Amino acid sequence: MTTTDELPFLIAGGGIGGLVAAYALARAGFPVRVFEQADDFRELGAGIQLGPNIFRALDRIGLKEAMLADAHRPGAQEMRDALTGELVTRIPLDERFFEAFGQPYAVTHRADMHAVYLRACQSSSLVSLEINRRLEDFEDDGQTVTVTFAGGGTARGRALVGCDGVWSRVREKVVGDGKPRVSGHIAYRAVLKRAEVPADLWRPDVVLWAGPRTHFVHYPLRRGELYNLVAVFHSDRYVEGWNEEANPDELWAHFTDQRPEVLRLLERIETWRMWVLCDREPIKEWSKGRVTLLGDAAHPMLQYLAQGACMATEDAVWLAQMVAQLPDDLPAAFRAYQQQRYLRTGRVQIMARVYGEFYHARGVAAELRYHMLSPRTPEQSYEGIAWLYGGM
Ligand SMILES: Cc1cc2nc3c(=O)[nH]c(=O)nc-3n(C[C@H](O)[C@H](O)[C@H](O)COP(=O)(O)OP(=O)(O)OC[C@H]3O[C@@H](n4cnc5c(N)ncnc54)[C@H](O)[C@@H]3O)c2cc1C
Repeated sequence: MTTTDELPFLIAGGGIGGLVAAYALARAGFPVRVFEQADDFRELGAGIQLGPNIFRALDRIGLKEAMLADAHRPGAQEMRDALTGELVTRIPLDERFFEAFGQPYAVTHRADMHAVYLRACQSSSLVSLEINRRLEDFEDDGQTVTVTFAGGGTARGRALVGCDGVWSRVREKVVGDGKPRVSGHIAYRAVLKRAEVPADLWRPDVVLWAGPRTHFVHYPLRRGELYNLVAVFHSDRYVEGWNEEANPDELWAHFTDQRPEVLRLLERIETWRMWVLCDREPIKEWSKGRVTLLGDAAHPMLQYLAQGACMATEDAVWLAQMVAQLPDDLPAAFRAYQQQRYLRTGRVQIMARVYGEFYHARGVAAELRYHMLSPRTPEQSYEGIAWLYGGM
């Protein structure tokens, strides 16, 4: 007969959060089964920015160097006015930045990030990776959790971690707060090869063009071989799910008056993918008994602080630490984990909305943005974001 503490942790979802949680738990000595609904473990398109806080977390689980291997290290974050071209602010990401936070800033491809976590899981004999397994339901009997899959089949474990993203099935039962909030903002994303970017427009930095109710970001990926483009605008269109095929006419309607540098880059793109951006109000409790949530399932946020994947990684490190401290009382371990995380992730959820307003400002608000940001020294900029980049 199997005793409870021989049973694995069950993880619903094999995205960024599910895989890093599986690896962190396995590294702490626990067996884990990951169930992914898709027919493969993969991530599609587009870039991810990695603040210094994620490297602090990655250091703790030994994956920092692997994450940096294929990443690009931008020299600065720059914001420009999309109508006038004026430089609003430039934050160096050089030695001064490293000195301030003790960790670097990098940008990487989602697929490269996912691959780092996937390889780490594959290298552990404690992780089992299972595809075509869509969690439909679960039952917590106080000692074990049994999950049921769409199309039949069940699995039993000592606990369940819902890493099943913004439209989390596990959250429905643990929190039950309905569908996520549709922000009215849409992101169109594309990745170009370096050779496809006009030489005078290729920049090594993270550049954000802030326009009225729009913004456009670009930066290199994969050691500089690729170029990531993200165009965001306000729209009422709503399609549940992300990574849908996009309609370029809708995009052009929002960017027509903008700077030639913006328009020339937008023109290079043949295929855009679209994300409808959603988030939720922060909550204090996302665990119930032997079931907890992690990543977007727990605290979905708008991407304006570029932190969703970073927060999922921090979550994973804390979850594994709390479970290692309280292995015989998992409900208490899960409560300690959410207690550790809810204020930090809640702050990112709230501040991401504020940053979105700031990026999309018009008229007086845009002028004010210029007057607030342009006189700042790098040190003042670092101080302003220390609550996020300096923590973990
Ligand atoms: C436009 C945009 C830009 C972004 N930029 C950044 C950035 O620069 N930096 C950053 O840190 N973050 C960024 N993010 C956020 C980041 O992408 C997410 O926060 C991160 O992917 C969340 O990971 P997750 O594992 O929680 O969820 P997901 O990545 O959504 O993974 C969920 C997984 O669960 C699976 N699944 C779902 N339901 C089930 C089920 N019932 N059973 C089994 N499997 C299931 C899915 O197939 C998927 O594989 C951005 C997001 C967007 C939209």
